[in-house]
Amino acid sequence: MQDEPAVAVLRLGHRPGRDERMTTHVGLTARALGADRLVLANHGASQRGTVEDITDRFGGPFWVDATDRPKRFLRDWDGRIVHLTMYGEPVQDVEATIREAHRSEPLLIVVGAEKVDFEVYERADWNVGVTNQPHSEVAGLAVFLDRLFEGRELDREWEDPERVVIPQAEGKRVEPADESE
Ligand code: SAM
Repeated sequence: MQDEPAVAVLRLGHRPGRDERMTTHVGLTARALGADRLVLANHGASQRGTVEDITDRFGGPFWVDATDRPKRFLRDWDGRIVHLTMYGEPVQDVEATIREAHRSEPLLIVVGAEKVDFEVYERADWNVGVTNQPHSEVAGLAVFLDRLFEGRELDREWEDPERVVIPQAEGKRVEPADESE
């Protein structure tokens, strides 16, 4: 988010065919809930255009990159790393420490699709569970980002949208951005 150290999300382990929507939803959730950047590994790069298209239409800033060397990306990351996993420490026990670290350093949040290599658990500064029950990378990411930003992400301002949603108690209202000012 603006005026804060960067938050990036690395999506590991995309399975072509099976994970198309899940990878897209990781990206859309990262963007909507305050991350600055999405990094798609290997085959996941095929979803890049969908997330960029939403950013073009509904605003940014939000960057999407791809890497075919995710382990190198992790090794080279200059900041702290959170790996979201059902086997990790409860988010409620570590969130304050992570927030404190993020005041001065960029944060990379790693989510998987299937089994994540042990190397990732070792490289992470924190392995974090959003509950220790199995669920989804989208749900884990959403809860984690909300805890990280303590709800500030809900009031985020968007730059250069083509269109904006005007909140309604009932029905739908979407307007070209310049008419909504
Ligand atoms: N055994 C996997 C694990 O380590 O969490 C479950 C695979 S799950 C289908 C895909 C991804 O969802 C995981 O790599 C993890 O990032 C995320 N995930 C699933 N359950 C989670 C939980 N309780 N807390 C945090 N992340 C979770």
